Amino acid sequence: MAGLARAGESFSSREVTDARSGADHRATRGSCDAFTVARDPVDWLERVFDDLGVRFKPALLWKIKSTHLPITVEVKAGEGPGTTLVFNGEDLGDAVIRLAGDLQAWLVAGLGAEVPPCPTHRGALSPSRTDVQPEWRCPEGDLNCAIGDYRDAIWPLGLDERPGDVAAMLGRRLHRRGLREFSGWSAELRDGCWVAEIDVRPNADEDAIRAAAAPIAVKFTQVGPVRTERYESPATGSERAFRALTLRRTMMHLAVLQGTLGRASIADRCDFLVEGPAGHVVRVVLRPEHRIGPATGAVILDSAGQPFASAGDSVLCVGGFLPESHLEGERMPFSAGELRVFE
Ligand SMILES: [Zn+2]
Repeated sequence: MAGLARAGESFSSREVTDARSGADHRATRGSCDAFTVARDPVDWLERVFDDLGVRFKPALLWKIKSTHLPITVEVKAGEGPGTTLVFNGEDLGDAVIRLAGDLQAWLVAGLGAEVPPCPTHRGALSPSRTDVQPEWRCPEGDLNCAIGDYRDAIWPLGLDERPGDVAAMLGRRLHRRGLREFSGWSAELRDGCWVAEIDVRPNADEDAIRAAAAPIAVKFTQVGPVRTERYESPATGSERAFRALTLRRTMMHLAVLQGTLGRASIADRCDFLVEGPAGHVVRVVLRPEHRIGPATGAVILDSAGQPFASAGDSVLCVGGFLPESHLEGERMPFSAGELRVFE
């Protein structure tokens, strides 16, 4: 199928917590349709960087050393130049406006990037203050939206956009509304209109998905529910025998974490630990259905309660670190879609 692109699932959990169910959140140009008023400085930083990154390539990378004001923000444009900005002020709204303006000034001066652009006038929207919340405003007066809601304000994307960009933005719209019962999605131009194809699981709320995609039409394909499979893999010439718990019918990140399994304490807030060859320990959350064993015996049981993995086992996890933290030194758990235990 020409012009078809498939988007992957990679969204931060912070976005999901922003979702409110049951309401129609369609944004229209020229209206302010904030999901929420952001709660803390880090939420605001996420919103500012998220909006500026929609139309900016390469990725805008940022790190902070502390979540307490004043916050020093290290910024880098991909492998390109970087800068240091400060997020501070007696009033949070003023601090947001100032940081957004400083960031825009740096992007224009160093990289010639005017973001986030007004779709009609192409120039950057200005950060500005209302009584309620910080906003983006087009100087020409045709578009304004809460900072953090830029994606919704420019939806639907125009017919000259790339299908992959339309699909990626649609995926974020669905996730942001807490709609997760789909496994794949794409967008393509048909007879001069965008059409989305979405693979939905049995318990998907199709009306809510349709509303989130509107005015883009949606074609649904039914797929089976996500399930956990336990399987055994015999030894081959290159690989030892192993047993595995894995998720089927869902997308998984494919980074690999290999090492020795260890029991986690309650304070670790994860399912188990994996110690790598270099001695560093990673916290792991296991997505396939499982149970945690009692204080002695197997650490991980399968969903039927059968012992599956014990401390000291040689294991391999498939998954990734999601979301990546912007806070320097903060270690996020590894989210595993598969756990292999070698014999
Ligand atoms: Zn405009």
